[in-house]
Amino acid sequence: MTRLSRLSRSVEGHVVLITGAGSGIGRATAHLFADEGARVAVTDLVDGRVDAVVDEITGAGGAARGWVLDVTDAEAVERVVTEVAAWGAEGGRGIDVLVNNAGAAIGTPIDAEEAEEAWYHGLDLLLTAQMRLIRAAIDHLRASPAGRIINVSSTEGVGGSAGMAVYTAAKHGVVGLTRSLAVEFGETGITVNAVGPGPIRTGITEAIPEDMKQKFARRRVPVRRYAEPEEVAHGILHLALPASGYITGHVLMVDGGMTIKNN
Ligand code: NAD
Repeated sequence: MTRLSRLSRSVEGHVVLITGAGSGIGRATAHLFADEGARVAVTDLVDGRVDAVVDEITGAGGAARGWVLDVTDAEAVERVVTEVAAWGAEGGRGIDVLVNNAGAAIGTPIDAEEAEEAWYHGLDLLLTAQMRLIRAAIDHLRASPAGRIINVSSTEGVGGSAGMAVYTAAKHGVVGLTRSLAVEFGETGITVNAVGPGPIRTGITEAIPEDMKQKFARRRVPVRRYAEPEEVAHGILHLALPASGYITGHVLMVDGGMTIKNN
């Protein structure tokens, strides 16, 4: 009997579509996959960010192409997914990995005047858009020998904070979406997982003063620090490996132990 069957730990040549790839976790994920030899479809709402990340990747010898994409625009999602799949086909593949990452911190006390508007916008951006991307990409993912969907949730997907109802509800929704689709797609070979980042140094947390960051981390995070976006990207990469085909419906917390800390 062979010792190990040598499941593949390579995503070389795989086509990876990442939303919100212009900054933070999405950008780090784009770089990491490109360094591993994947072909990366860099998509983001903000035009200049897309070009910058594509230039950084190609400048470092990686393969990437960019699309400006607002994930709340259903027509644009359909169009961009079709174009990404056509780009993938040039290299003999379709879309292998979808990383639903785009997001923003949307927080409003529930009794604020703007809370209802924020609610619908927040759910659309943070939850409905993930469903939209999955529906648009699913036929291409089915055609892949290692189709992978990775949805970005949060520690807010398993706990809650004051003044963040829509963000928390949406991130919990991401966990539900992930688990349900893991079951639904089980026999297709497509795995569906989520990552749950804790406090990460990205655009979302940029405005929090450094002393507050350190105070929070010392009090709440066993590892005692904020993480770099790259550390979340490694969790995403792990879930995307061909060798990870038996991991599905899982929420991989990348939170320095924050959600399991009792004292
Ligand atoms: P970030 O602000 O650095 O990056 C988010 C990116 O998403 C930006 O480039 C932005 O332009 C893009 N984006 C925003 N709205 C968009 C839209 N409508 N369509 C397409 N792109 C859009 O922040 P980040 O922390 O890297 O955020 C990535 C994900 O991580 C989000 O889903 C966020 O909720 C999640 N998250 C972050 C943290 C953290 O501490 N930073 C913690 C938990 C979860």
